Amino acid sequence: MASGRGSDSLERRGLMFVLSSPSGAGKTTLSRMLLDKIPGLSMSVSATTRPMRPGETDGHDYHFVDRARFTAMVKGDELLEHATVFDNSYGTPRAPVEAALSSGKDVLFDIDWQGTQQLREKARADVVSVFILPPSAADLEKRLHTRAQDSDEVIRGRMDRASHEMSHWAEYDYIVVNHALEEAFGEVQSILKAERLKRERRIGLTSFVRQLQKQLEK
Ligand code: 5GP
Repeated sequence: MASGRGSDSLERRGLMFVLSSPSGAGKTTLSRMLLDKIPGLSMSVSATTRPMRPGETDGHDYHFVDRARFTAMVKGDELLEHATVFDNSYGTPRAPVEAALSSGKDVLFDIDWQGTQQLREKARADVVSVFILPPSAADLEKRLHTRAQDSDEVIRGRMDRASHEMSHWAEYDYIVVNHALEEAFGEVQSILKAERLKRERRIGLTSFVRQLQKQLEK
């Protein structure tokens, strides 16, 4: 899809790095850690019709839009994928993703299994998907309560949905069980680093190796 320079300055195709999990499995924290520590990675900011939670910022956590605007985005083909989650609409704006990939940046997505399926259908070779599992149901519930952003009723709904969301784990390339944050972060980081080194993405290798051979044959 797109190309740019990797850390070794060889030209490389940008990749779409997808993290999915049931709410509360630590995906948002892991995403933040990746963005902080890994150069050349930018976050895809989704559009959503759900109300803003305390502490969230428009344009940073999400683009908070009304239903009419969301429908217009779908009709105008402005979204790479979109889905309904917990009765609200969510979608990935196409333009920023294409701009990031074409400047050689990898893009991080925090989207659900429906969005991941759509991205995979559109750009299989460029999508690397990771599913994060909580270590236990009790741990998931504790994290949802600690977050304290949602009412008890919403939390109950999210717990009910978790089992359904988890049923899609086998559609993902990698599975990380979030027992301990640092360990899970190390695993996610390793996946990204290895995927960046994949031969098929390193389109600058052919000319690099040719050059090496020429030097050797001199
Ligand atoms: P939350 O409302 O807790 O921020 O997100 C609820 C769910 O929607 C999460 O599983 C999140 O990954 C998913 N989600 C967020 N943005 C998008 C998007 O653009 N597309 C899709 N398909 N899912 C999204």
